[in-house]
Amino acid sequence: RREYNIVILGAGGVGKSCLTAQFVHNEWIESYDPTIEDSYRKVIDVDGRSCILEILDTAGTEQFTAMREIYMKTGQGFLLVYSITSLNTLTELSDLRDQILRIKEAESVPIVIVGNKSDLEEDRAVHSNRAIHLSEKWGRVPFYETSARKRQNVDEVFLDLCRQMMRA
Ligand code: GDP
Ligand code: MG
Repeated sequence: RREYNIVILGAGGVGKSCLTAQFVHNEWIESYDPTIEDSYRKVIDVDGRSCILEILDTAGTEQFTAMREIYMKTGQGFLLVYSITSLNTLTELSDLRDQILRIKEAESVPIVIVGNKSDLEEDRAVHSNRAIHLSEKWGRVPFYETSARKRQNVDEVFLDLCRQMMRA
């Protein structure tokens, strides 16, 4: 069986822990301790192949610590998460991607751009075109809008990332 390390990155409050809880445990957790950084295992079937995923839900309390360097090195696939209700959280993703590429000394790495909180349409601050533009700039990195609350597109982002890692 194949085993992959996934790292979930993005600003505090964008919904990384809620997405992880929905994907791993099928549950909606209204409020999650923002300082908890933990990893979870899940076995999934990807196109008939069984994959073991080790998913690190980061808390981002550190900036440039040795820890961050280690998990960026060991990570094989990255979910870069922002919230559609905050433009800053999208803008921050560029720095994260730069760090990943620098630390992995790679030109491209399996990544999915995730615009979470799509159920909060009335509070939308980021038009999907902005993320699409970023995705194209990065060489057509897959982009999805998700709702951890409604469990929309949650499995899809992980599956897309798995397929990329299997090809890598
Ligand atoms: P993290 O800091 O990135 O891990 O963010 P959390 O997963 O802890 O979520 C931060 C806050 O956003 C919590 O109050 C969640 O209830 C809320 N939240 C997370 N995902 C969604 C979502 O898809 N829709 C809505 N409406 N709220 C969300
Ligand atoms: Mg969290």
